[in-house]
Amino acid sequence: MTAVAHLSTCLFLKVKFKEAPLLFILLATEVTDLIWVVLNLARTPGEPPIEISRVDLPFKFIGDLHLISQVWSHSLVGNLVLALVFAAIGLIVFKSLHAAAAGALAVLGHWGLDYLVHDADLPVLPYAKSVLAGPALGFNPEAPWQGLNATLPWLGYALQVIVVLICYRAFVQAYRPTARWVLIGALVFLNLAALPIFLQGAMSEIVTSTSGLVLGTLTDMLLASLVLYGAVRFAVPGAIPRLGPTSEALRTRLRGLQTGGALLALILGISHLAQGMWDGATNPSLAHWSTAFGIAYVLSGWTLFGPSPMALWTAFFLPILSGPLSRLFLGAGHLGLVHLALEIALATTAVYTIYKLKTSKLRI
Ligand SMILES: [Zn+2]
Repeated sequence: MTAVAHLSTCLFLKVKFKEAPLLFILLATEVTDLIWVVLNLARTPGEPPIEISRVDLPFKFIGDLHLISQVWSHSLVGNLVLALVFAAIGLIVFKSLHAAAAGALAVLGHWGLDYLVHDADLPVLPYAKSVLAGPALGFNPEAPWQGLNATLPWLGYALQVIVVLICYRAFVQAYRPTARWVLIGALVFLNLAALPIFLQGAMSEIVTSTSGLVLGTLTDMLLASLVLYGAVRFAVPGAIPRLGPTSEALRTRLRGLQTGGALLALILGISHLAQGMWDGATNPSLAHWSTAFGIAYVLSGWTLFGPSPMALWTAFFLPILSGPLSRLFLGAGHLGLVHLALEIALATTAVYTIYKLKTSKLRI
């Protein structure tokens, strides 16, 4: 997805994690592509860059950009590590669970959105011969490695507009900005600016080399983040963080536990989906069940962000049942040990939160 879609997810995350600094979330939404730019440009003379991209010339549309190797910036495991780094920064620098969760989710969200529209070019492991994830949505049977942007660019563009709309709606409902039109104007402008790369031939004159496109991506990213940040500041001055305790200690602690559980569930979901891709060739039934568990965990993680404590019971029963059953009948798969550790952590977090909730009589 292009910069505007990735950056807009900060609006959504800001609603869920109000204490997280907006600029920090903005950075986390695009750090993956920032690393991509640096690694595509960094090279010693005579050597290829660390990550390699190629554009077909004449450049007709986004499908003519081929990400040959993006082992470090866009691997799933690399992004999980990056998410942990951002969570650590949130905890250590901002001393805020909100900042930690928002930073980590912003990084993972970037990978998830890319996965929806990319070709089969996202490595699972940060390793040159890693299995490649995707494409999640491909519509060309003659080129099954091509993703949504390459096969149906209009749909790819529509999808990222939908992402922006969802984020905008969540933000406006939560913050009720007085100068809403500034935010609308900024988002309309940024979405229109993102359109030409999806239109056949619209950028043929502008994009004449791979490094030109990489630099263009960097410019787009920086300008779009400035426009979006400026618009949010103007529309809702209160959306800028007010750090420090905003509620009583117990409520914060419960919210922290709930957020931790949601994060664990989301990571479990993503790693199950990764296992499905990894083990698909050797163990199809494990792959199918892994995909089903992956979706169930992602949904469970999603509901944990909501106000209903009932979701905690799902977060308890899902790992307790799914883990042992799948390993008993289907085998552990490559990520079996990782899943076991995450499942134990999720179930424990859910039980502890339910206990705390019952004794505190608080709704979180
Ligand atoms: Zn990306």
